[in-house]
Amino acid sequence: MNLLYANDHRAEYPGSWYAATAHPFDRFPALEGNVTADVCIVGGGYTGLSAALHLAEAGFDVVLLEAHRVGFGASGRNGGQLGSAQRLDQEDLERLVGDGDAARLWDLAEDAKALVKSLISKHQIDCDLKPGIAVLGFNKAERDELHSHAAHLSNRYSYDRIKPLDAEAGHSLCPSPAYAGGYLDTGAAHLHPLNYALGLARAAVSAGLRLHESTEVLEIDEGARVTLRTDKGQVTADHVILACNGYLGDLNRQVASRVMPINNFIAATEPLGAEVQRVLTQDIAVADTKFVVNYFRLSADGRLLFGGGESYGYQFPQDIAAKVCKPMVGIFPHLRDVRIDYAWGGTLGITMRRMPYLARLAPNILSASGYSGHGVGTATHAGQLMALAIQGQAEGFDTMARVPSLPFPGGPALRSPLLVLAMTWYALRDRLGF
Ligand SMILES: Cc1cc2nc3c(=O)[nH]c(=O)nc-3n(C[C@H](O)[C@H](O)[C@H](O)COP(=O)(O)OP(=O)(O)OC[C@H]3O[C@@H](n4cnc5c(N)ncnc54)[C@H](O)[C@@H]3O)c2cc1C
Repeated sequence: MNLLYANDHRAEYPGSWYAATAHPFDRFPALEGNVTADVCIVGGGYTGLSAALHLAEAGFDVVLLEAHRVGFGASGRNGGQLGSAQRLDQEDLERLVGDGDAARLWDLAEDAKALVKSLISKHQIDCDLKPGIAVLGFNKAERDELHSHAAHLSNRYSYDRIKPLDAEAGHSLCPSPAYAGGYLDTGAAHLHPLNYALGLARAAVSAGLRLHESTEVLEIDEGARVTLRTDKGQVTADHVILACNGYLGDLNRQVASRVMPINNFIAATEPLGAEVQRVLTQDIAVADTKFVVNYFRLSADGRLLFGGGESYGYQFPQDIAAKVCKPMVGIFPHLRDVRIDYAWGGTLGITMRRMPYLARLAPNILSASGYSGHGVGTATHAGQLMALAIQGQAEGFDTMARVPSLPFPGGPALRSPLLVLAMTWYALRDRLGF
């Protein structure tokens, strides 16, 4: 089954609150006939759009091919959280790659956050950017662990935007009875993900990008010049960037063996009016310590946007709202009867180690994906790093690419059933409260 079409209509955004509140963006024509370019990018999410913007600004002739619409994938559907650090905790990175590379990866993650903020400011992207993500735990042991993590970031990396929250301070921000404190990170932020993606696309097109939507790349022929075939045409380019993340399918086996698609879901309640104060007293975002993480924030019109629940097959569940309401009511029991106005799912790419997979697939083919739920900043940044690598400045790309990656056991064919077993076990642990 082709994930590009498993749960969605061709070239249409899903029925999300984001799509309902997106700033208008003209449809771009499908590719017809044969064209040449300096760089051809496959995929119009943050990775591809950021690469396109940076390359077009540097004077390259760039073509971007997107199977549906820009921001159709995870970039237009996500929780909007611009988190700090890499997806893997610094403590784990220090063990995995040593102190030197871990420190460099911390700096790169700080660059990623700063890049998103500066692109939004430079290109005047109207996407409700607001500071603050709280990470909350369910009991004293989890709170203590979060406090010690926050202390590690301030002591080792001089990070001064993070402060511990005791149970009372946590409740005064998020009055859910489920939580027992954690920390607040004011260097992190949240935003309207689809409007951010559309803003990047607008900026890239103004810088000279040739954008083709409704254009699926079916085959890639490697060589000194690479040829990408679509159903009505082809592009021949000196360089190629693969930016397909969870929607890659079998376009490239090396990536497919290391980046696994999984699905995650979000619901938007009706506007809560004065009741928002029972959910969040400040306009920050929250993520918690569950393996299948709960994450939430308020929309600009006062809805709760709650993300929770995962699935590991190709198809989304029939009733996404019911799937998300379960964890939502666990956190906010008083919302048991709230109306759900929108519910949607998206597919993202995860890796075995939860660090993104950046690779040179051939001397002139780069790929970045597998952000494992931490892509708002990291994918935007990976796009910039690939653009720089094509210009001969590969230090940042190479540091990310050096993080050891592991193929999923079983390869592309068997990884899914094995992953389902493993993930179901961890999700069960969440439910049992281990
Ligand atoms: C529900 C959900 C919640 C999330 N929450 C967060 C969050 O709060 N914070 C965070 O940091 N991250 C979050 N993520 C992850 C984040 O959204 C992704 O890491 C990020 O958007 C990846 O961007 P991308 O450009 O690499 O991929 P995508 O945005 O998925 O874009 C890939 C694009 O490639 C196109 N494509 C694929 N194959 C082809 C082909 N053969 N030809 C042409 N086009 C093709 C697809 O149509 C798609 O548009 C979440 C993801 C989901 C699904």
